[in-house]
Amino acid sequence: MKEILGGKGANLAEMKNLGINVPPGFTITTEVCDLYYKSKKTITGEVKKQIDNKLKELEKKMRKNLGDANDPLLVSVRSGAAASMPGMMDTILNLGLNDKSVVGLSEKTKNPRFAWDSYRRLIQMFGSVVMEMEHSDFEHILEKVKDTKGAKYDTDLTTEDLQQIVKEYKAKIKKVKGVDFPQDPIKQMYSSINAVFGSWNNYRAIRYREINNIKGLIGTAVNIQAMVFGNLGETSGTGVCFTRNPSTGEAKFYGEYLMNAQGEDVVAGIRTPLPVSSLQKQNPKIYKELITICNKVEKHYRDMQDMEFTIQDGELYILQARNGKRTAHAAVRIAVEMVTEKVLTKEQAILRIDPNQLNQLLHKQFNPVALNKAEAVAMGLPASPGAAVGEIVFTAADAFEKTKKGLDVILVRTETSPEDIDGMHSAKGILTARGGMTSHAAVVARGMGTCCVAGCADLIINEKAKTLTIKGGSIVLKEGAFISLDGSTGKVYVGKINTEDPTLSGSFGKLMSWADDIRKIGVRTNADTPVDAAVARKFGAEGIGLCRTEHMFFEGDRIKAVREMILASDLPSREKALAKLLPYQRNDFVELFRTMEGFPVTVRLLDPPLHEFLPKEKKDIEELNKEMKVPVKTLMDKISDLHEFNPMLGHRGCRLAITFPEIYDMQTRAIIEAAIEVTTKGPANKRVKNIQPEIMIPLVATTKEFSILKERIVNIVEAKMKEAGVKIAYKVGTMIEVPRAALVADKIVAAGAEFFSFGTNDLTQMGAGLSRDDSGKFLKEYVQQNIFEYDPFESLDQEGVGELIRIAIKKGRSVKKDLKVGICGEHGGEPKTVEFCHREGFTYVSCSPFRVPIARLAGAQAVIKERSKK
Ligand code: ADP
Ligand code: MG
Ligand code: MG
Repeated sequence: MKEILGGKGANLAEMKNLGINVPPGFTITTEVCDLYYKSKKTITGEVKKQIDNKLKELEKKMRKNLGDANDPLLVSVRSGAAASMPGMMDTILNLGLNDKSVVGLSEKTKNPRFAWDSYRRLIQMFGSVVMEMEHSDFEHILEKVKDTKGAKYDTDLTTEDLQQIVKEYKAKIKKVKGVDFPQDPIKQMYSSINAVFGSWNNYRAIRYREINNIKGLIGTAVNIQAMVFGNLGETSGTGVCFTRNPSTGEAKFYGEYLMNAQGEDVVAGIRTPLPVSSLQKQNPKIYKELITICNKVEKHYRDMQDMEFTIQDGELYILQARNGKRTAHAAVRIAVEMVTEKVLTKEQAILRIDPNQLNQLLHKQFNPVALNKAEAVAMGLPASPGAAVGEIVFTAADAFEKTKKGLDVILVRTETSPEDIDGMHSAKGILTARGGMTSHAAVVARGMGTCCVAGCADLIINEKAKTLTIKGGSIVLKEGAFISLDGSTGKVYVGKINTEDPTLSGSFGKLMSWADDIRKIGVRTNADTPVDAAVARKFGAEGIGLCRTEHMFFEGDRIKAVREMILASDLPSREKALAKLLPYQRNDFVELFRTMEGFPVTVRLLDPPLHEFLPKEKKDIEELNKEMKVPVKTLMDKISDLHEFNPMLGHRGCRLAITFPEIYDMQTRAIIEAAIEVTTKGPANKRVKNIQPEIMIPLVATTKEFSILKERIVNIVEAKMKEAGVKIAYKVGTMIEVPRAALVADKIVAAGAEFFSFGTNDLTQMGAGLSRDDSGKFLKEYVQQNIFEYDPFESLDQEGVGELIRIAIKKGRSVKKDLKVGICGEHGGEPKTVEFCHREGFTYVSCSPFRVPIARLAGAQAVIKERSKK
């Protein structure tokens, strides 16, 4: 239904069926939008006929005619696609008002102030949306009249003021556009429908779909709906509410409203709205009714609802309901609590959470001690949780530019608007002076998982001078000054406050334990250091799928020995240098094995080409010359000797060990000695039981490479074990990252490979012929044109590269049925790829520590989705 009617239209119809008070109207489907674009942006005759008919029906039902001079029917023209895109497309209210019907409406309602307020709103919205006037053209006039009349808020304006504004608005349109504001109601309606269709493809809507990965929709629907009025006076109002707290997830009704207001006033931050709890005091009957309806709608959709309501002269109308946007924190809490409330099953709750969203939960919060010492200089609303530290910028464009330069910025605005989307997306945090918890800034920041403090009234922001004044002028901050925001409390601090990692218990822990019960695929981590390994274990990693050893070669004195090894001209001097490295390397593994306490650890032997370990700059070469007492010329010769035109396909991985086997010999020794040490040495209770080192050879393309190297490894390991009188359950396996290896996978297993780990970064590079370093330049365009559905370096190309994987697994397991199969590329923590790996029978995925929970959840979702297909 949503596909055709859009989310808004479908839900309005459904609520009507539930017996909820929704103003009558009709919906023009998304198919019409599609047709509109296919017909050179026109509404075809047939469609027009249907719209005219539906309008007649609506007029009959309302017993009023659109724009009638004495008693006009007024309507709104509202956008609404299948996926909710709050504020990204256009909506126009009060259509049907013109110079005559505004008088009719004044007399009919005996409320001229209301009629003229509605008229000025129409001209303002129609002017900016349909006639493409600048928003500020109208804002200036409004502010000017407010100033001269000493009116603080729009509600302080009198009928005469509003008439004056209408006059000036119309004159401005005439002056800028050379045409009059259209008086014909039908013309008003049709140009608004056109504009709404047009807004489907405005820049911010396109960007929103890009950022949120919304694909495959044909367009927006248009809802034509009879107006109800929240701006009739103090017995009327409009508001937005959530059935649960969208920030924390607490099951507590939550919302904001304004009396004598219309439409977007609450979200646009025109005045600072009141919490719904005060509606409870102001009008307990309406409040109760609102809660009853909200509960009913939440039950119906089995999800937290974000709803719009209007009170017209004491009567409550519902104008929209949709599944509410929420923080990751709230999403998890709501899903888990709905299981307790028996609204959802555990499986449904697991499917509710977008695994990528979990990222937000794993990120930093302020260190409580540092926070305690810091003194807040201002406080706004805690609109989107998290901790953000950065330099102040005052425009979205500056936020975007500075972030591109690698700076952390906080975007400080009076209020944000949809044009700010790029800047908001790049900022570490967002701070606004106006607007509530449902303001644009708050809603968008929560969706993005960006920390946000909204409606901080203590701020004076001067965008022109680029200054932020706090505490009545005692603090003045310029662009570039550091501030810290606490999105969970709404507090603002001057300077930087230390941040730290969050706790992982409560609802999150519960959800993850349910996921683990269901999940079949293992989740390991890519970790090179004990610190990373410890973080990953905290996040639930069940082993290390990739420990890169090259980083271990860079630290402190080691790099000297490495360079000595590279510069050595014969085997004995190379071995001498490697002997210096051995104790370091062994120690690294001892620590890592201890941290992993018997979980499997896959160690990849040296992978990068040797020139990566030599300096490139002249100054560094000269330094090395002094340090190692090797002539500059010799150094330069060696560097140019090692130079490669295409290092990715060059002398690296196992190819290094074919020519310099002593490198892998040393690493193997270090691994097995460390394994023996942690199992046999030290206090009995500290000894690691069931140690499972897995030695992995990178960049294997041929069977021979593998068998030659495996034999050397086995000889060393067996000798060491014999010497120590210990048996260790070790394995030797290979990465599958060269397409050739995938094609001869059966032979590689026959040659003794005990596991495969797919290095999907290289496999994508070589399999799809895409340079990892250069393809960024065109891949974005490829994704936009749908040549690749996703960037193949982010989400595995399941069709092509995936086929290489399928072939390799099939061939490998035809020789060894229980062959262990894992993935260790960047893809290992990407939900769609995890689902693929589950389907293809992988033993485990391995990903960076912060993605471990994402993979755990995605693994469970894969099982549930598979079951539901059966
Ligand atoms: P968005 O998709 O950006 O939320 P909406 O179509 O929901 O835009 O409309 C914007 C605002 O106008 C909302 O606050 C909505 O409640 C209000 N509104 C829309 N149609 C009507 C109507 N017929 N009567 C009263 N208010 C309306
Ligand atoms: Mg809305
Ligand atoms: Mg690789």
